[in-house]
Amino acid sequence: MEYTLAGGPEIVAIPGPSVMPDRVLSAMHRAMPDIYAGALTKVIDEVWEQLPSIARTSGRVFVPIGNGHAAWEMALSNTLSRGDHVLMLDCGRFTAIWAEMAEFNGLKVELLFAEEGRAFSADALEERLRADVDHEIAAVLTVHVDTATSVRQDIPAFRRAIDASGHPALFMVDCIASMGCEAFEMDEWGVDVTISASQKGMMCPPGLGLVWANAKAMRAHETANLKTRYWDWTYRSEDGPYYLRFCGTPPVSHLFGLHEALAMIAEEGLEARWARHEHLASGVRAAVDAWSTPGGIDFVAHDAHERSHSVTTISTGSIDAVELQRIALQQMGVTLGLGIGSDESASFRIGHMGHVNAPMVLGVVGVVEAALHAMGAPVGSSGVAAAARVLGHTT
Ligand SMILES: *Cc1c(COP(=O)(O)O)cnc(C)c1O
Repeated sequence: MEYTLAGGPEIVAIPGPSVMPDRVLSAMHRAMPDIYAGALTKVIDEVWEQLPSIARTSGRVFVPIGNGHAAWEMALSNTLSRGDHVLMLDCGRFTAIWAEMAEFNGLKVELLFAEEGRAFSADALEERLRADVDHEIAAVLTVHVDTATSVRQDIPAFRRAIDASGHPALFMVDCIASMGCEAFEMDEWGVDVTISASQKGMMCPPGLGLVWANAKAMRAHETANLKTRYWDWTYRSEDGPYYLRFCGTPPVSHLFGLHEALAMIAEEGLEARWARHEHLASGVRAAVDAWSTPGGIDFVAHDAHERSHSVTTISTGSIDAVELQRIALQQMGVTLGLGIGSDESASFRIGHMGHVNAPMVLGVVGVVEAALHAMGAPVGSSGVAAAARVLGHTT
């Protein structure tokens, strides 16, 4: 008799969109309300009150209807002018994609790459900014966590480099893969614009961008000439009818979902969330360490201190990652993330962001291990046992 072990709930372990809590789903499941008064207006006010604390800022927040790319465009168009020189630091893939947008939109892009599998060097940033004696660089743009390599960058070190060089550039950070998962302190770390989206650590469906701006960014906004009406922060800032915050009809269902997600974050506590993500990620990393062999399983992020707590990218060496994913999905009902890069068969990704707990991580790690055995792949030792030891160790 033919059968598989994939019955029951499907587990999607890709690095976004991430698992949505039932509470968020239920909150969204409602008829369209009045958009000018009542429950929705209260939800909007509360969301606006709570969002700054998620990025740890006393700055403003803007919520474009759109995905992370929309949030990228909102950040660029509101703070920069045609022909401005922007310095973009890539440690994987995502800053380079953002750079394509910046260039298309009329900015002069200088894109610098980190060493493979590493964060960009803060010393190299300082050196580049010191060489810019005329302060032609208007902004430094980068990511907190790159979702392709799962490298996390040291944002405070970048701020220290900018300050040490005495450079006035704006500092913008994409936290799409890390917000709500990794420690991030927008004000304390001196980030001027922070960018995120609803569908990763924020536990909502894709469809909302999140953009936080401090006073320096709002000053840049006054003279920016890349502004267009739809994205314009000034237009969206006005008090009055609620449609102005969204430049049209509010994204009603998403707002009810985000409101519930923010309630869940408040109940857990942001710092407890950061700690949970770190602990769960160390379970995944213990498994990868245990599986690793020369020429086989390994981390894409070379430096242990630069490995993200929300996603882990695993290189597979001689093991066919596409076949591994096929077995995990078809035989065991787990969707793993594809590797991003030139060769899909050379890596895969495990998302552990947002609504994730120990049994989910142990389940996914167990399924990867089972698939490795099914393929007869070289495996150092049991990743499941290693992850269980780490997760069982409470503080
Ligand atoms: C997912 C992601 C994006 C792109 O977000 P979209 O919602 O797909 O536009 C950008 N940057 C990072 C770091 C991401 O993880």
